[in-house]
Amino acid sequence: MECVLCGNVDVSRLVVDKYGQSQRYGLCDDCDRAVFGVISAEPLWHRPRGCGLCGDQPRFALPEIDYILKKGESVSELEYDITIETFELCLDHATSILGLSLNVGQQEPLP
Ligand SMILES: [Zn+2]
Ligand SMILES: [Zn+2]
Repeated sequence: MECVLCGNVDVSRLVVDKYGQSQRYGLCDDCDRAVFGVISAEPLWHRPRGCGLCGDQPRFALPEIDYILKKGESVSELEYDITIETFELCLDHATSILGLSLNVGQQEPLP
């Protein structure tokens, strides 16, 4: 798992595509702070629903990683929780801020 912005392997946050479970990216502490400031860790700042920046339909959840379990040299398992307080981003903000270029069509949310 590498930071989607700088390639640092020491990521502290995941970027999870809520509608395509195989799509996962990482975000390191430095980039998290550079892009979102301290804001992404501040629940009060969040919109009550949706994208943390505009309140739109969230596409990505950005949970903090609780811990990383190393399994051998290349395999590692990540522990994280996506809760109601997890920072989320809509597709527009995810692409503009994180530079994600996804091949995403209009998909219905999974139940
Ligand atoms: Zn980074
Ligand atoms: Zn947004």
